[in-house]
Amino acid sequence: MIDFSYARAADIDGALRLVAHPGARFIAGGTNLIDLVQQDVERPQRLVDITKIAALREIRELPNGGMRIGALASNSDVARHPAIVERYPLLSQALLSGASPQLRNLATVGGNLLQRTRCYYFYDPGFPHCNKRHPGSGCDALEGYNRIHAILGASEHCIAVNPSDMCVALAALDAIVEVRSMRGSRRIPLPDFHRLPGTTPERDTNLAPGELVTAVELPPSALAAHSFYLKIRDRASYAFALVSVAAGLDVDGDAVVRGARVSLGGVAQKPWRLPELEGALAGKPLSAVDLGQLAATALKSAHPYQYNAFKPALAQRAVVRALRVAAGLEPPPQQEA
Ligand code: SF4
Repeated sequence: MIDFSYARAADIDGALRLVAHPGARFIAGGTNLIDLVQQDVERPQRLVDITKIAALREIRELPNGGMRIGALASNSDVARHPAIVERYPLLSQALLSGASPQLRNLATVGGNLLQRTRCYYFYDPGFPHCNKRHPGSGCDALEGYNRIHAILGASEHCIAVNPSDMCVALAALDAIVEVRSMRGSRRIPLPDFHRLPGTTPERDTNLAPGELVTAVELPPSALAAHSFYLKIRDRASYAFALVSVAAGLDVDGDAVVRGARVSLGGVAQKPWRLPELEGALAGKPLSAVDLGQLAATALKSAHPYQYNAFKPALAQRAVVRALRVAAGLEPPPQQEA
C-alpha cells in the first residue's frame, strides 16, 4: 500500500503551487503513471490532478500556419483533428499506431511526451539491477533478454528505449515543447526534450523540477503530401515498436526533394533523427538515390546487443520503405491500430 495525497488544480498557477511539494507529481490520463505506482516502480507522495485545467486542452491553428496542441489534448482528439489530419498526417498516423483506442481516448499529449520506457526489468522490481529505477544498482538488461532495447545512443548504465510513437513524428516535424514553472515559461525543441542515458539514466527528460508541459507547437510544414509513419512490431496491433520511422519529404513538381525529415523510434532513449541522410536527399529525385546505401551509412554507428542483433538491418530496411511510401514509389503496407 502506497500512501499519497491527492489534490486537484483549477488552473496552471494552482497546479504549479501544488506540485511544489516533496515527491509531488502531476497526473492527467494516468495511463502510464498509475501502472508504475501499482507495480511499485514509482512512489509519489502527492498527485496533482491537472485534468480540469481547460486551457491545457485546446488545439488551435496559429497565424503562421502552424498549430498549438494543449498538453491535455487526448491522443485521439489530436489524431482525428481535421487540421492535423490535413496538415500533419505523420502525427495522426503515429498516434493511431500507438496503444489501443481506449488508451488513446484517455492518454494526453503531455503524458505521451513523458511516458517511461517499457524495459521489462524497469517494470519488475523483482529484478534488483536497474539504474533507471535505482541509480547505481546496475542494468539487468545488459546481459538479459534485450530484444526490445537500444542500438543507438545507449550507455553501459542503461540501454532502454523511448516507447512513444508520437514523439518520433514530433521529432520529424520539428516540434517545440512549451513548459511553465513558477520561474516563468520556456520553449524546448523536441530533440532537446528527451535525454540519452549517459551516467544518469534515471532522468528521461530535461524538464526541471516543478515544470509543467503546457503545449506542443508545430511549425508550418511542407511535408503533408509526402509523409508516412511506418511501425514494425511483434503483433499487428497494441504493441510497442521494435523499429519505427517517421519520414516526410518536401518534393517539387519535378519530383526533386527540396527537404527531408527522417526520425527513428524503438532504437534509442529519444527519437533519433538522421540529419546526414536528410541532407543527402536534398536536391535529388528520390528515385535517383541509393536509399539502401544511405540508410546503411546512417546506421553505421548502431551497436546491437545479444538479442537485438536484427535491429540495425531492420531499421535500414524500414527507412528505405518509409521513404519510398512517403514519395509514392510504393503503396503503404497494411498497418493496424
Ligand atoms: Fe533499467 Fe535501463 Fe537497464 Fe532497463 S535498460 S534495466 S531501464 S537501466
